[in-house]
Amino acid sequence: MHTCSRAGCTQTAAHSIEWRNPRIHGPERKKVWLACDEHVEYLAEFLRSRSFPVAVFPLDAETSDTSHSTAPADATPDTTNGSK
Ligand SMILES: [Zn+2]
Repeated sequence: MHTCSRAGCTQTAAHSIEWRNPRIHGPERKKVWLACDEHVEYLAEFLRSRSFPVAVFPLDAETSDTSHSTAPADATPDTTNGSK
């Protein structure tokens, strides 16, 4: 059970916001905030306004979501081709 990272918010987080501060963090260093539907834009904009690299991902919750199942088919390289 994850809750929103926004101060004072106790809602269940539905998104994860990955970001870093290039001035103090190396490329491999990554910070993650969790955000509910209401605050995901607020938090992302907060980071973007500081010119931080920001990436927002949907958080896999235990909620049964039937209409939202998308798999990135071309995200993995096809290694079954053994020619040459
Ligand atoms: Zn929130």
